[in-house]
Amino acid sequence: MQGGLFSFPPDKKDSSMALNVTQKIIKDHLVSGEMIPGGEIALRIDQTLTQDATGTMAYLQFEAIGLPRVRTELSVSYVDHNTLQMGFRNPDDHAYLRTVAAKYGITFSPAGTGICHQLHLENFAKPGKTLVGSDSHTPTAGGVGSMAMGAGGLSVALAMAGEPYVIAMPKVVKIHLTGKLPGWATGKDVILHLLGKLTVKGGVGKVMEYAGPGVATLSVPERAVITNMGAELGATTSIFPSDEVTKAFFTAMGRPEDYVPLTADPDATYDEVVEIDLSALEPLAAAPHMPDRMVRIADLDGMKVDQVCIGSCTNSSYADLKAVAQILAGKRIDPTTDLLISPGSKQVLKMLAAEGLIDPLLDAGARLLECSCGPCIGMGGSPTSAGVSARTFNRNFEGRSGTQDGQVYLVSPQTAAMAALRGAFTDPATWGEAPQKAEFPAEVPSIRHLFLTPPADGSDVAIQRGPNIAPLPPFGALPAAIEAPVALKVGDDITTDHILPAGAQITALRSNIPAISEYIFSRVDADFVSRIKKLGKGVILGGENYGQGSSREHAALGPRYLGVAAVVAKSLARIHRANLVNFGILPLLLVDKADYDRIPAGADIRLETAAIAPGQPCPMTVAGVGEVMVINDLTAKELDIIKAGGLLNQARRAQA
Ligand code: SF4
Repeated sequence: MQGGLFSFPPDKKDSSMALNVTQKIIKDHLVSGEMIPGGEIALRIDQTLTQDATGTMAYLQFEAIGLPRVRTELSVSYVDHNTLQMGFRNPDDHAYLRTVAAKYGITFSPAGTGICHQLHLENFAKPGKTLVGSDSHTPTAGGVGSMAMGAGGLSVALAMAGEPYVIAMPKVVKIHLTGKLPGWATGKDVILHLLGKLTVKGGVGKVMEYAGPGVATLSVPERAVITNMGAELGATTSIFPSDEVTKAFFTAMGRPEDYVPLTADPDATYDEVVEIDLSALEPLAAAPHMPDRMVRIADLDGMKVDQVCIGSCTNSSYADLKAVAQILAGKRIDPTTDLLISPGSKQVLKMLAAEGLIDPLLDAGARLLECSCGPCIGMGGSPTSAGVSARTFNRNFEGRSGTQDGQVYLVSPQTAAMAALRGAFTDPATWGEAPQKAEFPAEVPSIRHLFLTPPADGSDVAIQRGPNIAPLPPFGALPAAIEAPVALKVGDDITTDHILPAGAQITALRSNIPAISEYIFSRVDADFVSRIKKLGKGVILGGENYGQGSSREHAALGPRYLGVAAVVAKSLARIHRANLVNFGILPLLLVDKADYDRIPAGADIRLETAAIAPGQPCPMTVAGVGEVMVINDLTAKELDIIKAGGLLNQARRAQA
């Protein structure tokens, strides 16, 4: 896939051309495509990460490709989401993740070691490297100059197999920082300010690259808060240069050899520029229920706060929790306010312990939780009904806290600590002096020994599969002709929730395609599964906007498992259409939408697949109706994927 496919636009061939940090990393990793915004580029991926909630499917997909070992420089499997191990499913998942990691050459981080992004930043992220992770906050590693992107499990599986990661070449936005954060303003307030300014859609199709004299005033943990929550802007990723501050961070982390300088060339150009004067910032909060609904803390002064949660991959660093300990020291939190603290990693916890900073937290009345996502993913710590919760997290969508009418405000750890003491938000002007910005201690304890390094040869490792872990069933190539009945006819605006409902009971089966497939269309037509099982195959007839909603891969995987060969609709939602292609289901559109009414449920369909060409209409025979024209909007590449039976089959062939 490499070498000969490299292709640069004529104006980018000149190696002396001034480049920004993003362009430098992309240029270094470009397998195909041109660095022109919007065009498709394929990037070589150096590192991958997964967390347990998405990891099991990513590894089942990697197994289905059939390679003996991952082909990345480094792949890490973290367990941080479902760490409570209630019932057999979570511990079974963890055992599968641990053994699959040993077999295929993946580093494993056991439950309780910490939150994936905090751990990756402390231990593995490197400047100039590409990282793809099956979690949307993977861009945290951009705090040390990694080009780190969140992706679906399938993309991570393919990256582990050495396949390039395909994205649209992003625009690069220069976030030009000047000045220095004053008083109580923090890294969190920088990204909250930017979210207020650009909104949750402001980063779509863009990389937010930080530059300017203000960069040197921000520590790596502060930078990582900003790149973490760049995900809320919808950005492809966010990135800081790698400079002397980065070098000091790597030295403190005990891995100075991982530092390389990486800065934009002096004359580098950007697609857009946003100016931020750090000196003008003040503590902010994102109000319920969107991360871009910005309010000044000063304007919330006196509002009752029922619960405070400090932690998450956004704000759980040593510096964050030291500031909290300093604010709480010698005081007692408001008796009507609950305070929960989840350190980002055991390294953070050990540093706090070594400095005697756990006592102030405990003595103030805080509840110290495990080093994991915890309340951020709704694993405990729900607020009271209609209660106000001040959280240092990155998302405050309605119901995410586990309390449907909970009112979640996203704030800095300093703002959160003060709210816990007073039981209410407090105007920072009345707070007195802010605690000193924490430097790392001279001796930073290592927790590297807690990661399970895979053996050099994993061929003897037996993978532990509990009853909830089922290997991905093999899928065949597209047959020369589809001969199948309309197994289901649905109306307009069918969502991925209609195709596969959400909910804890169903989501728990995500590593077991046969089991989760029992719920396909269960709330639309209770007989669908038994019917298509009897038929062995089928076509879905859809109305307008079929497959809208979430990016849930299982809404394509389940139907594929049950034998759905094609979806014929009036129109298809973009992401679901892509998922259909990835899993080998033909997405087709009716040329004449009026034909929808002519085709009855149960009608037998015949379609010569050899007659399908990219973007061309072709006839489909419907028993009792006659010929109906369908068309596709597939590229030649996508049609090849479907003919192979899906992306995994194609990757398997490429590796053979
Ligand atoms: Fe996701 Fe929250 Fe965990 Fe971060 S801490 S990875 S946002 S669940």
